[in-house]
Amino acid sequence: MNFDFTQQELMLFKEINDIMFGLARERTLEEKDPISAESLLREALDRLAKTSYLKLGIAQSKDIPGLCAMMGAMEIVSSCSPSLYLSIEMSTRLFGRIISTYGNEKQKAKWLSPVLYGKKLGAVALLEKTMNIDNDPMATIGIRENALIKISGVKNYVINGPVADFIAVAGTMENKPALFIVEKGIKGLIQGKRLETIGLDGVVISGLTLENCQINEDQIIGQFEDKSILTTLRIWENQIILGSCLGMMKSSFESARTYAKTHKTGGKPIIAYQEVGFKLAEMLTLFQTSQLFAYRAVCAPEGKNRDFEVLTYCAKVFCTEAAEKVSGWALQILSGEGYISGNPAERSYRCAKYNQIAGTSTEISRVKIGDAAIGA
Ligand SMILES: Cc1cc2nc3c(=O)[nH]c(=O)nc-3n(C[C@H](O)[C@H](O)[C@H](O)COP(=O)(O)OP(=O)(O)OC[C@H]3O[C@@H](n4cnc5c(N)ncnc54)[C@H](O)[C@@H]3O)c2cc1C
Repeated sequence: MNFDFTQQELMLFKEINDIMFGLARERTLEEKDPISAESLLREALDRLAKTSYLKLGIAQSKDIPGLCAMMGAMEIVSSCSPSLYLSIEMSTRLFGRIISTYGNEKQKAKWLSPVLYGKKLGAVALLEKTMNIDNDPMATIGIRENALIKISGVKNYVINGPVADFIAVAGTMENKPALFIVEKGIKGLIQGKRLETIGLDGVVISGLTLENCQINEDQIIGQFEDKSILTTLRIWENQIILGSCLGMMKSSFESARTYAKTHKTGGKPIIAYQEVGFKLAEMLTLFQTSQLFAYRAVCAPEGKNRDFEVLTYCAKVFCTEAAEKVSGWALQILSGEGYISGNPAERSYRCAKYNQIAGTSTEISRVKIGDAAIGA
């Protein structure tokens, strides 16, 4: 496997880097105010759409770099802002990928193109109240009534929920899994109030309630024969989380290294103290190992291959735990300066827990890896 990036991919990374740093100079990237957060998100989508970033992993052409470069590009965006990154990814790499993989041509024209051109915002609602989709049947249900389908259900946490133009809502219809595409403003869609979280300050997240929302046949993706669609969506979510971890490690490591070289105690920069140097060495080792693991997981052949699935779970467990450790050590090196809000280490430290909870949680990943290990 070749993990070297081509000139074209390196050019893309530079373009993305310039856009993100340009935005950071103009605006606060981890924007707490929901109105400003939405306008920042739409501005970022608009600017990134001028590159191939939004199309990575979704559209295929010789001008669009492959999955390994997608991971490298994700790392850059996430390192600048974990919140902006996640909001963008839920719209493109999850909502967009659903439509591009399972939608028909009409659905792609209606929902995929505007998302990939950065004009509209998507969201995906999988999780329901007090349940994890891996273990429990979905209670959100679509009932056919003549030419219409009525959707009812409750979704607990949805990134972009309060602001998305299109939402893919997972549920069942006639006992088969399906994704219902509901559009902003549809009657019966109740968007909950924005939820406060310990990290991801700039993510606009809420619960959603659907009370007899009426959609038509064209707004259904599926129905699918079995629940494997949900596993696929979780794998895609896990890939997004891998990118998030790499970005957090990059920004935490770099801020700690700079601080260690410039901050002095006892007349010398703290990097001169072995214990600080060793921490940085350990951080870089975890970061670089995570990069290799994430690239490998995302580039492995997909399809019905269970090895690919297990590799993703292994990478997710490793990278999410590494991101928590690296950001924690960065905070330790930055010490008082790090504990004060507003630097990449404390921001990553607060966000890192999300990565272990979301997608396939660390515990469920370990159960699945264990099952595969014993050949179950
Ligand atoms: C900030 C935030 C944003 C989110 N955004 C979205 C979104 O946009 N769309 C969306 O659909 N969801 C979203 N979620 C939901 C997220 O994916 C879930 O929180 C996650 O999948 C865990 O589900 P749960 O909270 O129901 O935990 P539970 O499933 O109730 O799990 C609770 C604990 O039990 C463990 N556990 C559960 N089952 C097992 C098992 N079988 N074996 C071993 N351990 C087990 C879990 O690992 C966990 O530690 C978001 C969550 C957060 C916090």
